[in-house]
Amino acid sequence: MTTDYMCPICNGHLLVDSHLILSIKHANQTGMLLLMNPEAGNYQTIYHPSQQLIEGEKYEFHCPICHGKLHSELNDNLVMVQMRDETGKLFELHFSKIAGQRSTYKIMGKEVQTFGIDAPHYLDFLNLIDIS
Ligand SMILES: [Zn+2]
Repeated sequence: MTTDYMCPICNGHLLVDSHLILSIKHANQTGMLLLMNPEAGNYQTIYHPSQQLIEGEKYEFHCPICHGKLHSELNDNLVMVQMRDETGKLFELHFSKIAGQRSTYKIMGKEVQTFGIDAPHYLDFLNLIDIS
């Protein structure tokens, strides 16, 4: 079994050929597709050359399949997608909606693994046991 990412609303597969594909939109821009590196803590992204990500700006994330809003219940600045690792374990992957902010949380039950230099920024709100 390989790692997979699923939409928490429609269970659609979001990982295609080593890219986690999401639809994002900033209030003042048209929407765009964002290809993310599926490795937690790797913040490489790919998007159409005619568009840009504005550092420090907040984007809303949607599932490219059902168009549902991908939103974390834990914090308004976080997105949530479901992740299944190579052993079949299911996690919630939460990461920042703010471009350039490196904070990712891999959560199972009450335990969290954190990734990215900005991870401490939201950790206090999460109320989980950090096992990183
Ligand atoms: Zn969906």
